[in-house]
Amino acid sequence: MNPLKTFVNSPLARVARLVLGNKGSVAMVLGQTVHLSGATRAEFLADPEWVAHEEVHLRQVRDLGLVRFLYQYLVESARVGYYQNRFEVEARAGAAAHLRALEVARQA
Ligand SMILES: [Zn+2]
Repeated sequence: MNPLKTFVNSPLARVARLVLGNKGSVAMVLGQTVHLSGATRAEFLADPEWVAHEEVHLRQVRDLGLVRFLYQYLVESARVGYYQNRFEVEARAGAAAHLRALEVARQA
């Protein structure tokens, strides 16, 4: 079983979902738990790109500490927006690299 900690129907993730324009499903990392809104744990774990993306955020939180992460994340978002936020850029790149590695492993 995946040891990744999830919290489904998270009210905080729901707020993020509303702020982001009511996207279908949202995950956000708080501490070392992935908070989900609009998706079940099973749906989340079935999407390797999404899991890898959130794993990058978990690592970012471990590196910076939650308070510094949240502060810098909000400053970045205010400055350049959600998509160009460097934490999101890094998470997308990490998820893409993970998918490529899975593909290589499948073909080996
Ligand atoms: Zn992200």
